[in-house]
Amino acid sequence: MKPFPRAEISSSALQNNLAVLRQQASASQVMAVVKANGYGHGLLNVANCLVNADGFGLARLEEALELRAGGVKARLLLLEGFFRSTDLPLLVAHDIDTVVHHESQIEMLEQVKLTKPVTVWLKVDSGMHRLGVTPEQFATVYARLMACPNIAKPIHLMTHFACADEPDNHYTDVQMAAFNELTAGLPGFRTLANSAGALYWPKSQGDWIRPGIALYGVSPVAGDCGTNHGLIPAMNLVSRLIAVRDHKANQPVGYGCYWTAKQDTRLGVVAIGYGDGYPRNAPEGTPVWVNGRRVPIVGRVSMDMLTVDLGQDATDKVGDDVLLWGQDLPVEEVAERIGTIAYELVTKLTPRVAVCLA
Ligand code: PLP
Repeated sequence: MKPFPRAEISSSALQNNLAVLRQQASASQVMAVVKANGYGHGLLNVANCLVNADGFGLARLEEALELRAGGVKARLLLLEGFFRSTDLPLLVAHDIDTVVHHESQIEMLEQVKLTKPVTVWLKVDSGMHRLGVTPEQFATVYARLMACPNIAKPIHLMTHFACADEPDNHYTDVQMAAFNELTAGLPGFRTLANSAGALYWPKSQGDWIRPGIALYGVSPVAGDCGTNHGLIPAMNLVSRLIAVRDHKANQPVGYGCYWTAKQDTRLGVVAIGYGDGYPRNAPEGTPVWVNGRRVPIVGRVSMDMLTVDLGQDATDKVGDDVLLWGQDLPVEEVAERIGTIAYELVTKLTPRVAVCLA
């Protein structure tokens, strides 16, 4: 019997999505962003499905080490950079690139003894104001990195967009102009584009694109859907009906009794809840997919279960599969109903959900 709840990951969808992004940015190499357990799809699963990616972007050193231990040979980049000087020999030993965005990292690089230089991507703050060296600091920091024997040359250059997921927001042009002006004429790779950059801002594609969410078949843009770009959702979140009950009009259901049936109906109890990462705040009416149709969640989502209104004439049975999001029910739509973004839904699944390659 298949486990439930489970996140079924489609290898062919991941490969399709990589091919779509390559086509969109044909002059760029692709650094597949697989941080946060491959956006909840399983770090090694995703890396093994995307063997054609030119590199992988991770947030933390532990994630990169897991990929190396799993046999991944491609370029790896720590997008948040390293935090301790004891991380540096590990970067060297496992051939892992790092972002440098802060003076404290440069001090560590200058002071440590290494057997080989580290490959560095200097992060420029072109307007997001989260990480990165400011335009005012850039020339001094760049010269300092160039003078550091522990840093491989050339130094690569990157920035990150604040608003690329708003296709009409001119701020992305402002960020691109600031980055391009600052880095003009310098050697090394340039990378600016996340998924939204790669899909909506072709001028941002640079030497490397860094798509995350689009690889998983999901659009980064509110109101849009990955399928509009030829992307295929890579995750089907599936559970099953563990009870089907006749329910009388005017009777409530669930904690707080805050939903009451207007008419006689049949309710289905689905084995998934906030203990699995399905949001507790999913409002009444959030759809799930059962036997080829959408039915609404009713009552409060509890830790292990949620309840759906199957309708008066429902013939669904205990044991039937229920899709919470995936190829027949876009995660973008579910996220919008819940008042969040698809990124949060897929990355917040808990270890109780079995992640399996379909
Ligand atoms: N690059 C950096 C530096 C990031 O932090 C992220 C994700 O947050 C990405 C690329 C991928 O972004 P997206 O999933 O929107 O494509």
